[in-house]
Amino acid sequence: MKIILLGAPGAGKGTVAKMLTALDGSVQISTGDILRGEVQAGSDLGREAEGYMKRGDLVPDSLIMGIMEKRLQAPDCQKGFLLDGFPRTVPQAEELKALLAKLGIVLDMVVNIDVPTDVILDRLCTRRTCANAGCQAIYNVKSNPPKKEGICDKCGSPVIQRDDETETAINHRLATYNSKTAPLIGFYEKEGLLKTAVGTSSDAVVSAIKAELGR
Ligand code: AMP
Repeated sequence: MKIILLGAPGAGKGTVAKMLTALDGSVQISTGDILRGEVQAGSDLGREAEGYMKRGDLVPDSLIMGIMEKRLQAPDCQKGFLLDGFPRTVPQAEELKALLAKLGIVLDMVVNIDVPTDVILDRLCTRRTCANAGCQAIYNVKSNPPKKEGICDKCGSPVIQRDDETETAINHRLATYNSKTAPLIGFYEKEGLLKTAVGTSSDAVVSAIKAELGR
């Protein structure tokens, strides 16, 4: 499957993407995970992105497009992909459209995961993430804590609160979402690709996507 997952930070894009990869070997491509990996590795790209990310600002479109142009041509994308956190701006969506046309890739759909703001805020404040850049498993102190407090069930690395998940940074990220990313809903509606999944349960969102794909 070739799907873009849209939705505010905390809407559950990552969780839904991970559940969908199990269906047919499509890969999850999270630009946030890629960037956090670069920051941890101390690469030039990571150093350039770090300040924007800590503040809850978007990193420049040119930087993201450079990453995605390479990533979409990697052999593991042959079976399909779930784009999680990309595109984030109308210019990124326009460049992606041109890139997909150049690569001969046709999207199945764009799913907007629509979750109420109070649920989003609660989720982001209680979310914890595995600090290992190669894992980045997601937990929640209330609904899905790791078995051993502060330790990732999957890889044993520390489970931390992300720098951009403080209250100030979360509010800034949500404002950035509303001004820069929410316009993509209209963009993909015009493209005839948009489906909306309303709800707070990732299982329900996955079932709706499967039904849409006829699986
Ligand atoms: P995420 O894990 O998707 O919430 O992304 C974390 C942070 O990485 C965002 O707040 C941005 O600073 C940056 N980021 C991730 N994806 C993008 C993107 N497509 N465009 C610009 N910045 C991005």
